[in-house]
Amino acid sequence: MFDKVLIANRGEIALRILRACKEMGISTVAVHSQVDRDLKHVRLADEAVCIGPNPSPQSYLNIPAIISAMEITDSVAVHPGYGFLAENADFAEQVQKSGFTFIGPDADVIRLMGDKVSAIAAMKKAGVPTVPGSNGSLPENGDRCIEIAREIGYPVIIKAAAGGGGRGMRVVHTEAALLNAISVTKSEAGAAFGDSTVYMEKFLQNPRHVEIQVMSDGQGNAIHLGDRDCSLQRRHQKVLEEAPAPGIPDDVRRDVQESCVQACIDIGYRGAGTFEFLYEDERFYFIEMNTRIQVEHPVSEMVTGFDLIKEQIRVCAGEKLSIRQEDVVIRGHSFECRINAEDPKTFFPCPGKVNNFHTPGGLGVRVDSHLYSGYTVPANYDSMIAKVITHAENREEALARMRVALSELIVDGIKTNIPLQEELVRDSAFAEGGVNIHYLEKKLGL
Ligand code: ADP
Repeated sequence: MFDKVLIANRGEIALRILRACKEMGISTVAVHSQVDRDLKHVRLADEAVCIGPNPSPQSYLNIPAIISAMEITDSVAVHPGYGFLAENADFAEQVQKSGFTFIGPDADVIRLMGDKVSAIAAMKKAGVPTVPGSNGSLPENGDRCIEIAREIGYPVIIKAAAGGGGRGMRVVHTEAALLNAISVTKSEAGAAFGDSTVYMEKFLQNPRHVEIQVMSDGQGNAIHLGDRDCSLQRRHQKVLEEAPAPGIPDDVRRDVQESCVQACIDIGYRGAGTFEFLYEDERFYFIEMNTRIQVEHPVSEMVTGFDLIKEQIRVCAGEKLSIRQEDVVIRGHSFECRINAEDPKTFFPCPGKVNNFHTPGGLGVRVDSHLYSGYTVPANYDSMIAKVITHAENREEALARMRVALSELIVDGIKTNIPLQEELVRDSAFAEGGVNIHYLEKKLGL
């Protein structure tokens, strides 16, 4: 096992990783920007290194600074968390070249999955269901593009192979608009991502977002840890997640889960990963793979009782998977509410000093947060300040538990989206289960 792990992240996920390392007897190094010296995990880590000024390009995205911090602290591995450098293949490669271990898959696997065209091709080969589409990048020939769109059927969506964060996509409803949409998306993709490759997919009108959690050791063993429904989104940002996804027929669920496991083995995947799907009319359609731990991983931990971060560290240290598929049992139901420092009506970020922070508790309640009374939320980074997670024997009880938990949560001094979350856990359509990805924005009148 690793002697010392450097945590190349901040906030709640850095604290989550720190806790896992401590439980495993691994020494920890926190790296932070200047404004972040008072972060909870920085105080709790064995060592801390300031890696630069507040703007992330100069600190959390500064690869030479992070590798230097590994060198001066004798760290042997780096955990990237999510966001920042977590899916940066060049970072993974440079970590490896410098003689350290990247806690994640190999750089070439990150690259394969980071390009959506190559990712979809790899998935098709493994038997993962994909969206009907162009099967590769769109040709230069306009007539050929028109033919492809006719075969797929309108509406179609033009997507950048290198796209991410909900950018680089354009929906096309009619043939008359097709060629112009392709050329605009191409030039936008070229400018935004340095790669103008685009492809075409059928545009699904009212899908849900359902994803499969996997863990793989890169030694031929892979398992899935069930699924999550993350359909409640605003501007492609997830707001409230749950596990398992409600109302999916057992055989449909089993088939897609098994195909994801097969894909992990095929691509030599190592570590924790998520296959994201759109789900409509009892069918799954692969859209992308995230080659890292995700924000919403706790709901899967709650229903499986399995520590995803510890296993991620173990398999990246070269150990074989510690459990088999038959050991994974989904028990009960779990919800996660993301708490953001933002105005609940305008959604503008609302950083500032937290005078009082009180967390809910009791059976089946978990709060992952780096906040403490007196902490100042800086304006420089993502506005998520806490995740409130509940678990109970069934969906109804887990939701009732969330209502109580949110009523106990106090974040005093700054504005938060707690009022929005309180409304969502009382929403009757959400309580029924299975709302689609447009539900929240429609409810908000967007
Ligand atoms: P990104 O990497 O930018 O997040 P994704 O491929 O995951 O891109 O797509 C982001 C979102 O765009 C999806 O969650 C969904 O809301 C929408 N989307 C993408 N592809 C389709 C499609 N074929 N049909 C309908 N909606 C889509």
